[in-house]
Order: sequence, then structure tokens, then C-alpha cells
Amino acid sequence: MQYFYAPWRSEYHTNKDKSKCVFCDISQTPEKDRENKVLFRDEICFIVMNLYPYNPGHFMVVPHRHLEALEDLPPNEWQHIANLAQKGVKLLKEEFRAQGVNIGMNLGAVAGAGISDHIHLHLIPRFFGDTNFITTIAKSRVFGSDFCAIYEKLLAKSSEYFG
Ligand SMILES: [Zn+2]
Repeated sequence: MQYFYAPWRSEYHTNKDKSKCVFCDISQTPEKDRENKVLFRDEICFIVMNLYPYNPGHFMVVPHRHLEALEDLPPNEWQHIANLAQKGVKLLKEEFRAQGVNIGMNLGAVAGAGISDHIHLHLIPRFFGDTNFITTIAKSRVFGSDFCAIYEKLLAKSSEYFG
């Protein structure tokens, strides 16, 4: 029996201020996009690096609407997010040399969502042989120079793919 592998289980679980929604905060402060590692934003959603990546290059597509239930998202906005995710896969393959990509959502805390009250779609680039690497150090990754370099690399290409 194999269980579905969901490597994005616990992002942002160490966020200190539980009363505030980190995604709404990012949504409402475009002037801090660089600080928050935002790759792209438009009127419907934004794309942001995961600060606790399960692999280098892990980012998320997040609607501006603070919604817990995917089914409450207007269908045209879900379509828009899906379109951006498709472009994100292309970006990860072409510019980040990803050999595979996990995309997915954890809907609800019981499904493993770290931030269960604001839906978000994960994109995680995958590389041959990375599984042990991920499970071993995923919980202890640091926000270091590699992370910033990856952000700059993806940011430089983001308007080409998402714009
Ligand atoms: Zn929110």
C-alpha cells in the first residue's frame, strides 16, 4: 500500500502570530513584495516563494481572497490560478531544469494544510534522487543565500512566463 506523497504538508507552521493571516498580509502589502519573495501579482492572485521549501524553487499561487473552501472561489478565479500554475510548471522545467513537478493543494488542516484558512496551490520542482534529501532536511531548511539566489533567478523570468 502506497500513500499519496504530499511533500508540502507543513509550510509556515512556525509562523509566530497565529491571529494574522500571512497570505492576506502579503496580499495587502505590494510594497513589500521583494522582502516577501513575491514572484508575480495581478488582480486575482499572487505567486510567492515558500519560506519553508520542500525543494529549492518551491512556490505557491495564492488568491487574494481569504477563503478556506476552494469551492467558494469563483470558477473564473480558479481557472486563472490553474492557468498560472500551468505557466509555473513551464517556468520550473525550462528555467530551473526541473525533471518533474508536484502541484497540489491541502484543503483543511486534516488534509495537512499549514495555513488552512487561506487556500493556496503549491508547485514543487522535483529532481531525480531528491526524495531522501527532502524528507531528511525539509523541517530544518534555512532562509539563506541559496534561497535568495533562487528567488532572484525565478523573479527575473516571472514576467516572461506569468505576465
Ligand atoms: Zn488570508
